[in-house]
Amino acid sequence: MRQRFGIGFDSHTFGAERPLVLGGVTIEHTSGLVGHSDGDAVAHAVTDALLGAAAMGDIGRLFPDTDPKWKDADSIKMLAEVKRRIVAASYTLVNVDVTVITEAPKLAPHVDDMRKNLATALGLPVNAVSVKAKTNEKMDSVGKGKGLQVFAVASIGGA
Ligand code: MG
Repeated sequence: MRQRFGIGFDSHTFGAERPLVLGGVTIEHTSGLVGHSDGDAVAHAVTDALLGAAAMGDIGRLFPDTDPKWKDADSIKMLAEVKRRIVAASYTLVNVDVTVITEAPKLAPHVDDMRKNLATALGLPVNAVSVKAKTNEKMDSVGKGKGLQVFAVASIGGA
């Protein structure tokens, strides 16, 4: 099996009057993330990492924010759709690893629920899905709490 890797990145600003959703988990916070879909930056970064591994484009091309169909969309469903396309292209998902950078809220209590949601969407065992959280040590915009950033790496096997 030939192994392939993809990288994903996403950032969203806080300030939306809706719940904060990360990795499909609704988390108590002062505001949600601004975005056309539900703003789930974890799901978006993982989606782009998988698309990158398969060289199948990017989330903006598949789910354009000009399309009303994706307004307030459940990003975990978009991730599951990308998984379906990657499996249909004869790839096997291997693992994903995610780092979320935010000053607040504390994500540690939610990491295992995020892993479960991502694993379910991807058809992977939970031990193939890693989510880590850290702060930006109060530096720059993320450190001031204006938004958050997510990095993701995905590995797939096949063609
Ligand atoms: Mg996004």
